[in-house]
Amino acid sequence: MKRFLLAWLCAALLAASGSGGATPPPLAEPHTQAEIEKLFLSVPDPKIAEEDLRVLTSAPHIAGSPEDKKTAEFVAQKFREAGLQTEIVEYKVWMNYPAEISMDVVAPPGVKMHGPRPERVSSDPYQDDPRIVVPYCGMSPSGDVEAEVIYANYGRLEDFKRLQQMNIDVRGKIVMVRYGTNYRGVKAYLAQQFGAAGLLIYSDPLEDGYFKGEPYPKGPWRPATGVQRGSIAYTFNLPGDPTTPGIVSVPGLPLSQRTPPQRADMPKVPTTPLSWADAEPILKHMAGLESPRDWQGALPFTYHLGPGPVRVRMHLKQDYAYRAIWDVIGRVPGSVYPDEWVLAGNHHDAWVYGAVDPGSGTVAMLEAVRGLGRMLKAGWRPKRTIIFGSWDAEEHGLMGSTEWAEQHAAELDRAVAYVNMDSAVSGANFGASAVPSLKQFLRDVAKAVPSPKGGTLYQAWRVAGEIPSQPDVPDSGRMPVVQLNNDAPVGDLGSGSDYTPFLQHLGIPSTDMASSGSYGVYHSAFDDFTWFKRFADPDFAYEQEMARVFGLAVVRLADSDVLPYDDENYGKEIAAYLRTAQDRAEKMFGKPPSFAAALEAAERFARAGAAISRVQPKDAAEVAAVNRALREAERALLLPNGLPGRPWFRHAIYAPGRYTGYAAAVIPGVNEAIDAGDLQATEQQLAALTAALNHAANILERQR
Ligand SMILES: [Zn+2]
Repeated sequence: MKRFLLAWLCAALLAASGSGGATPPPLAEPHTQAEIEKLFLSVPDPKIAEEDLRVLTSAPHIAGSPEDKKTAEFVAQKFREAGLQTEIVEYKVWMNYPAEISMDVVAPPGVKMHGPRPERVSSDPYQDDPRIVVPYCGMSPSGDVEAEVIYANYGRLEDFKRLQQMNIDVRGKIVMVRYGTNYRGVKAYLAQQFGAAGLLIYSDPLEDGYFKGEPYPKGPWRPATGVQRGSIAYTFNLPGDPTTPGIVSVPGLPLSQRTPPQRADMPKVPTTPLSWADAEPILKHMAGLESPRDWQGALPFTYHLGPGPVRVRMHLKQDYAYRAIWDVIGRVPGSVYPDEWVLAGNHHDAWVYGAVDPGSGTVAMLEAVRGLGRMLKAGWRPKRTIIFGSWDAEEHGLMGSTEWAEQHAAELDRAVAYVNMDSAVSGANFGASAVPSLKQFLRDVAKAVPSPKGGTLYQAWRVAGEIPSQPDVPDSGRMPVVQLNNDAPVGDLGSGSDYTPFLQHLGIPSTDMASSGSYGVYHSAFDDFTWFKRFADPDFAYEQEMARVFGLAVVRLADSDVLPYDDENYGKEIAAYLRTAQDRAEKMFGKPPSFAAALEAAERFARAGAAISRVQPKDAAEVAAVNRALREAERALLLPNGLPGRPWFRHAIYAPGRYTGYAAAVIPGVNEAIDAGDLQATEQQLAALTAALNHAANILERQR
């Protein structure tokens, strides 16, 4: 039996050595963790990554389309080839395609614009495919609106308030805003609250075009006709299918069990995206006050606020239906702790070709899966069960991941971590986000991964000091990173990708990672194989790197007997969030509520985390007890009643900000109560947070 296994190992190693580099030495029996990792790292192959991306980007594959289903089948086939137990899971979700989308300038006379004009550049081999979806906003309502236009900068809360201070009333008007600094769904949410009749969101060349550098096809930046499609779903209140809050959108779910769409929490203001080529004639002919200077973009004239005299007619006819979507789930049973699950995933639906978003992540995941397959053939068995998810309909509102997480909510109590990728490669700068308990773990994984720049990924990451942006949202504003040392920076998790249901609904510690660059084709037809090969990763060396770091994180989470959580750091970072909030509360209230109990609870959690990390379990029972405590302490950070006004979001430490969308709102209950100037709610939220932290500390202390 042993000899047989050894033969397998040698064969596997010989096969693995085919991908370049020195032949790894044969594995001794029993093989060490170092040997296992060496075998894994030898597998991801730039050539195969390139072939896979070519297949994945061969056709537009929006969620629910026949091409999207083919993409799911391709991923499932790769999972099966690697030896994963694989299934395709179908859901039926409420979502829209565009039926008729147009906007026309109807006044003043002489100004003409009929959009959206097709996305065209001087040369791109993919731009004429009739399957390219007309630029539109996922989850926008239909509507016919004709009104004067008002310019509202980024459409942030402070921008709408500033218009109010200048006595410019957006009620009944079409509001025009530029992309950047916040999630487009927050722009739509605020436009609705301030009474706008319509919303146009355009890409200004200042943050997304020629001001950044040479536009495509000469350079990587957004060309004049490039449009950023995207969802405006209110995912900061409720991600997933908006007609099934908290329940699963299984096929055949009776309509009587769904919230009727007109009563669901969905955007109410007709909203659509524009290129700057289509936005220019509107902005250029606006009158009224000169815009504040920091509202000026990079188009070659002075921006004015309006209203008018430009009037626009928006005609949006959305084709809404319950549509089938397909998640792909691949499983490797654990050999020692089969009831503990390591989750990893990324989505497979794309607005158009999706070379970066999400193809680059799918490719890296598939190469990681192939690495695991090679190890399985060599006789390796992960100690914990590993589950890979290739999610659908992320772009419309995190639908595939949310529905799956809701379906398995009870069993997911056994999940120990979720490792996410999305737009995994658009350049050479590595960045990552994670809960504080996994930040050091990620740095340690990066120390074992070679960088295409030479040395290790960790060294390159630390030198660049790149503060991570949300991978799915270039130019959405960088999050402040609470960092208690000058090590490689790891950001906090906001919302904008598929970790949301796992972390923010179920309390599963999560991470997200990407290698980013000059990504000027986000959600446009030009995010295609040609752009990727020229500007993102010509040699697929960063795809190889991402496959290695993502896969190695999964392998280590699956195989380390004691879970690699650092709750000492978690407690310290929470204490830092609290001190910042305390300063804000003093400014807001003058005499703020006491933060002493919450701070003491955070510090107690940190001390308990330090103590449990020193425990050396003597036997399997003790390992199990320590791991149970570590897992339960993470779950203890869930608030029993969720966050005020959005009970689906239960995490006490992280939620998407309702006024920022993607950026992480830390200790969101407390911070949002301070923002609202509500002293009583601040006190209540501090008490709830204190209770959660003491509960978590208590669980850890019992294991000392
Ligand atoms: Zn994405």
